[in-house]
Amino acid sequence: MNLEPLFCPYCGAEGSLEEMETSAMEIDGDLWLIYHWYCEQCQEQFDKVELSPLSIDDSDDDDLFDDDDDMER
Ligand SMILES: [Zn+2]
Repeated sequence: MNLEPLFCPYCGAEGSLEEMETSAMEIDGDLWLIYHWYCEQCQEQFDKVELSPLSIDDSDDDDLFDDDDDMER
């Protein structure tokens, strides 16, 4: 997955972006990734925030537990 922007939103320069360290924040069980870029042309910095759910497989797994109480009588 390539999230890197193609050009600088400030000066429009292509290929001059330096990716910096990505920060991660956990808010309400979700993981937010904050990407930082630095433009070597105009020396501006900008961020991109991406929501990355911590538990994708965690949705309604209660239905799988519907085992009908089929015990021996
Ligand atoms: Zn720039």
